[in-house]
Order: sequence, then structure tokens, then C-alpha cells
Amino acid sequence: MASSQKENEIIQSLADIAADPSAYASAWKQRTGGKVVGIMPMNFPGELVHAAGALPVVVQEDRATITLGRSLIYEFYCGYTRSLVDQSATGKFEGYDAFLIVDHCVALLGAIDAMRFEIPDTPIYLAQFTASMDEPWSPPQVRGRIDELRARLEELCGRKIADGDIATSIAAFNRNRGLLRRIYDLRRSGVAPITSRQMQALVKSAMVMDIDEHSARLEELVPLLEARTAEASRLPKLHLSGNFCHAPHPELLDMIESCGVVVVDDDLYTGYRYIATDVPADGDPAEALTRWYFNRNTNVPCSTRAQKSADWEGYLAKAVEKSGASGIIILIAKFCEPHMLYYPELRKELRRREIPHLVIETEHEGLPLEMLKTRVEALVEHIKRPVRSAEAV
Ligand code: SF4
Repeated sequence: MASSQKENEIIQSLADIAADPSAYASAWKQRTGGKVVGIMPMNFPGELVHAAGALPVVVQEDRATITLGRSLIYEFYCGYTRSLVDQSATGKFEGYDAFLIVDHCVALLGAIDAMRFEIPDTPIYLAQFTASMDEPWSPPQVRGRIDELRARLEELCGRKIADGDIATSIAAFNRNRGLLRRIYDLRRSGVAPITSRQMQALVKSAMVMDIDEHSARLEELVPLLEARTAEASRLPKLHLSGNFCHAPHPELLDMIESCGVVVVDDDLYTGYRYIATDVPADGDPAEALTRWYFNRNTNVPCSTRAQKSADWEGYLAKAVEKSGASGIIILIAKFCEPHMLYYPELRKELRRREIPHLVIETEHEGLPLEMLKTRVEALVEHIKRPVRSAEAV
């Protein structure tokens, strides 16, 4: 079998799982008898759930049209939170034994309340991680929340979670993140022609699968990609940024790439942001998970956290320098306040540095792809024929 065919087969098998996480979770549950725990974006340490012997599943937006959920949550909440509520109301969360949350965006809190109303028999537990990252009391507070989560999981799964269990889980997740980062490196260098749709499938499947099973598939894939030879592309390179909490629709990614560009990097949540930061492998493992929470915001800053020393716009400037991208497309989930409020900072800095960029607001339903295509084409033209005095598109 040709290696490109084998690559495609592995990626497609992971894409199929990513497209239907509930089917995978049910099969896993039947096979192992373990609990399935839904964890919410964007900072939950899945390692803790894994250490309890349960399957952590980062709950995904569902593509179904929102029906029953419409009367349960405000229309002006982001598509992800409206989808969560709709999935609760339409019985799609029946396979989950519990939901755990550490982030507390207002929209997410609203969704959690509506979920508690719709699925009262399913435990839903919020252990709020402090979002103010610079305060001296923040690390001990987060450490306290991690201890609370550990106790909850012990109760849910009926077993003690030893430090050694957490350390084993940390090693498994670090291995998986390392493999995905290797694929990102191969893509940036032009060796692996991975499309954005494929990259999304690789990360999304890591969010919902048993981590060792996922790593085993990546370990087959990585050597095939490494055996390729870098091919220089004459197409403009782009970086995709943002889109918190859920994956942008694959057809949007396809449309962007159909405009004569190659996407070489991203800091999407269902992308590099998710796998960028390893948990320290030394010391007390619960303390290591605490350090990971703070490290990941320094590594790939997020506007849902408040940290004076972390600078998302500076991160983006360095990322495009590293990947050679000549422009950025910022994807903002409609009604995502933490992102919308930060965008003026991004815009100011990208303009100052003359990095062309375009903002696309993403929505759960009804993306006007043809109209958006015209705007992406305008960005591409701008990159190809830069006019110094022109505004970014
Ligand atoms: S951070 Fe944005 S995308 Fe995530 S739940 Fe809040 S509003 Fe929605």
C-alpha cells in the first residue's frame, strides 16, 4: 500500500471518530465498563479523569440545528453553549456519567445551569479555576480546585486516585501532545501537506478518544509523514487564530484553502492551543497540573485569562515569523465576548506590524461561505500585492 494511502486511511479513521464522539464513547464504555466523563473547554486537565480510570471526552459542538435548546438559553450566547443545551434537551448526553468544568465564561455558566435543569440526574460539577493569573493566591486556589476534582472523581469512579496514577496519565497525555506537535512541525516545514480539515480531525479525535489508542495511531502516522520530502509551495502561507471552545466547521477551512493559500499553523482551541503545553513531568503530579494551567497561558495566551505578562498579539507576531505565514485569519465564534473584547488589541498590534489579517465570525448555523470567500480572496490579493498604506482587509 502506498504510504500516502496509508496516511489517508489513518487520518480518515480518526476523522470518523471525531465526527461521532458519542458512538466512540458508547463502544468504549461497553468494552471497558468504565465511566464516560464529559469535560468542558478550554482548561480542564483530562489527565485527572484518565487517572480515575474513566474516559475524558472534551464535549464537542454538535452539527444538528438547535431546536429544543432555543427556548432554554439566550439566542445571543455562542453557538457552542447553545449546542450544549440543545444536546442535553434532545437526549444526546445520555451516554455521559458526569460533566466536569473548570472554566467560567458567562455563556458557559448559563449553559451549565440549563443542562442541570434538563439532565438533573447527571452530576455536573464546576470547580472554578481562577482566571486572574498574576495574583500570588491564584496557584494555591487552583491547586485546591484540583484536589476537589480529584475527590469528586474518586467518588464518581469508586476508587482512590494515587499520585502514581496521575503521573502515568500525565506521561500518556504528554506523549500524545508531543506526537501532535511533531505533526505541526512537519506541516510548518512543508514536509507534511496536512490540510486544516485533517489537522482538526487529528486534534479533535485526541480530545474524545482513549489517549493511548490515539497515540498508537499517531505513532503509525508520524513515521509516514517524516518519510516525505519537503516541497516548496509558491502559495501564500496563512495562520488561523482563535475560535475558542469548539472546532470551526470543516467546510469553512476547505473554503479558505480553496482560495490559493496554504495554512501552515494555527492557535485554534481545536488545534495547536489544545496540545501546545505539556504538564511538567517532575514533582507532585497534582502540583504539576496546577503549573500546567499557568504555563499554558504563558505559552499560548488566551483572552479568557487575565495575565499582564502574557501577550497574545506578541505570540501571534512570533508565530507568523516562525512559520513564514504572510497573513492571519482570525476566527471568532459569534457572541464570544472574551474574544470579541480582546480583538481591538490584536488588530492594533497586527496593523502596527503590518501583518495582513482578516476576521471571520463563525456561527453554529448558516455560514455565508460564498460571501466569506470573497473576503478571503481579497486578503490573498492584499498579501500578493501589498500596498503599504492600505488597511488590513
Ligand atoms: S469562551 Fe467564547 S466560545 Fe467559549 S463558551 Fe465562552 S463565549 Fe462560548
